[in-house]
Amino acid sequence: MFVSYVLIKMRKTIIAGNWKMYKTITEAIELANGVKRELFQMDSQNIEVVLCPPFTALAEVYEVIADSDIQLGAQDVYWQEEGAFTGEISCKMLKDAGCKFIIIGHSERRQFFGEINAFVNKKLKAALNSEITPIVCVGETLSEREGNRTFEVLGNQIKEGLDGITEEDVLKIVIAYEPVWAIGTGRTAKPIQAQETQKYIRNLLKELYNNDVAEAIRIQYGGSVKLENILELIQQPDVDGALVGGASLSIESFAGLVKIACGVKK
Ligand code: PEP
Repeated sequence: MFVSYVLIKMRKTIIAGNWKMYKTITEAIELANGVKRELFQMDSQNIEVVLCPPFTALAEVYEVIADSDIQLGAQDVYWQEEGAFTGEISCKMLKDAGCKFIIIGHSERRQFFGEINAFVNKKLKAALNSEITPIVCVGETLSEREGNRTFEVLGNQIKEGLDGITEEDVLKIVIAYEPVWAIGTGRTAKPIQAQETQKYIRNLLKELYNNDVAEAIRIQYGGSVKLENILELIQQPDVDGALVGGASLSIESFAGLVKIACGVKK
């Protein structure tokens, strides 16, 4: 009973901004400074905020946010620590640049760069070994949803992605449910669809691990989250925050999303 209570209390809302391949270094500094200024009075007991700029701006954004409660994340990683892997970046390098989070298995990586569940699994293990929190993205395409294959697809992504991850380690990850048809399309999942799917994910975690673990893992929703829809989404019992793309690129919208999320009591 006590253990469950402690684990449930650990599900702090997490809002992460995925800047994708946007922002030069100068623009990134400006955006990070603006977000920091707007969130100056943020209650970090209540919410965790992560900025994920492109690799080129990580160090500069870290400089900006180092004296705040905002944390730094990267958008991808390679699983080897170092070596002849031209163009790749390791966990060791990301940690050195100040990263506390890494987005892994984003649908754009899966769709355009051949990221398969086995790679997600290796990246996840590398991040955990480096004590960086992985934000693992899963989600179905439109044709998979329309073909009633959503749960099957998510089930495979989660089972293969988490293969060999211990109970102790799985507690350190964040899952982002991002229906591919909702990313960058302006078409958001209805709150009830997000809840139903995220409940499925939590039930699967219960089967794979146990109830306490499933209740402790944070599951974000991602896919065209904006000021107009975040409240209803994160009021859902199994939605523990948001992974935000487009709306994280302006100070007003991203800070606005955090402020709305901060006021939601569950
Ligand atoms: C994302 O990139 O993870 C995302 C959810 O993008 P958008 O908010 O633009 O749909």
